[in-house]
Amino acid sequence: MVLRLLQFLLILAVVRAVWRLGRGVLEGAGYRRVDGPTRVGVKLQRDPVCGTYVSPTKAPALRIGGETLYFCSDSCRREWERR
Ligand SMILES: [Zn+2]
Repeated sequence: MVLRLLQFLLILAVVRAVWRLGRGVLEGAGYRRVDGPTRVGVKLQRDPVCGTYVSPTKAPALRIGGETLYFCSDSCRREWERR
Protein backbone atom coordinates (compact mmCIF):
# COMPACT_ATOMS: atom_id res chain seq x y z
CA MET A 1 0.00 0.00 0.00
CA VAL A 2 2.79 2.41 0.95
CA LEU A 3 4.74 1.35 -2.11
CA ARG A 4 1.75 2.07 -4.34
CA LEU A 5 1.38 5.49 -2.80
CA LEU A 6 5.03 6.25 -3.48
CA GLN A 7 4.61 5.02 -7.04
CA PHE A 8 1.61 7.28 -7.48
CA LEU A 9 3.52 10.27 -6.13
CA LEU A 10 6.44 9.52 -8.45
CA ILE A 11 4.15 9.40 -11.49
CA LEU A 12 2.52 12.64 -10.35
CA ALA A 13 5.92 14.30 -10.04
CA VAL A 14 6.94 13.14 -13.53
CA VAL A 15 3.65 14.32 -15.04
CA ARG A 16 4.05 17.73 -13.38
CA ALA A 17 7.63 18.04 -14.59
CA VAL A 18 6.61 17.20 -18.17
CA TRP A 19 3.64 19.60 -17.95
CA ARG A 20 5.88 22.41 -16.72
CA LEU A 21 8.40 21.71 -19.48
CA GLY A 22 5.65 21.77 -22.12
CA ARG A 23 4.25 25.02 -20.80
CA GLY A 24 7.72 26.56 -20.71
CA VAL A 25 8.28 25.69 -24.35
CA LEU A 26 4.88 27.10 -25.35
CA GLU A 27 5.44 30.30 -23.40
CA GLY A 28 8.92 30.66 -24.86
CA ALA A 29 7.53 30.40 -28.39
CA GLY A 30 4.71 32.83 -27.54
CA TYR A 31 7.11 35.38 -26.12
CA ARG A 32 9.20 35.38 -29.24
CA ARG A 33 6.13 35.86 -31.41
CA VAL A 34 4.83 38.79 -29.33
CA ASP A 35 8.18 40.44 -28.69
CA GLY A 36 9.74 40.07 -32.13
CA PRO A 37 7.97 42.72 -34.22
CA THR A 38 8.19 45.44 -31.54
CA ARG A 39 11.91 44.93 -31.11
CA VAL A 40 12.71 44.80 -34.83
CA GLY A 41 10.29 47.41 -36.20
CA VAL A 42 10.72 51.12 -35.48
CA LYS A 43 7.59 52.75 -34.12
CA LEU A 44 6.37 55.42 -36.51
CA GLN A 45 5.73 58.91 -35.22
CA ARG A 46 2.99 61.20 -36.43
CA ASP A 47 3.83 64.56 -37.92
CA PRO A 48 1.62 66.96 -35.89
CA VAL A 49 1.38 69.42 -38.79
CA CYS A 50 0.26 67.31 -41.75
CA GLY A 51 -0.44 63.95 -40.06
CA THR A 52 2.10 61.94 -42.03
CA TYR A 53 3.67 58.97 -40.23
CA VAL A 54 7.43 59.24 -40.25
CA SER A 55 10.34 57.09 -39.09
CA PRO A 56 11.98 58.82 -36.10
CA THR A 57 15.43 57.69 -37.26
CA LYS A 58 15.30 59.87 -40.40
CA ALA A 59 12.73 62.56 -39.65
CA PRO A 60 13.59 66.11 -38.58
CA ALA A 61 12.84 66.35 -34.87
CA LEU A 62 11.96 69.08 -32.42
CA ARG A 63 12.33 68.72 -28.68
CA ILE A 64 9.70 70.39 -26.54
CA GLY A 65 10.14 69.76 -22.83
CA GLY A 66 10.44 66.02 -22.38
CA GLU A 67 8.66 65.27 -25.65
CA THR A 68 10.17 64.89 -29.09
CA LEU A 69 8.10 65.71 -32.12
CA TYR A 70 8.93 64.32 -35.53
CA PHE A 71 8.17 65.95 -38.86
CA CYS A 72 8.06 64.70 -42.42
CA SER A 73 10.12 67.66 -43.63
CA ASP A 74 11.85 70.83 -42.50
CA SER A 75 8.99 72.91 -43.88
CA CYS A 76 6.55 71.12 -41.54
CA ARG A 77 8.89 71.72 -38.63
CA ARG A 78 9.08 75.41 -39.48
CA GLU A 79 5.30 75.47 -39.78
CA TRP A 80 5.03 74.07 -36.24
CA GLU A 81 7.54 76.59 -34.88
CA ARG A 82 5.61 79.44 -36.44
CA ARG A 83 2.50 78.57 -34.43
ZN1 LIG B 1 4.50 67.04 -42.59
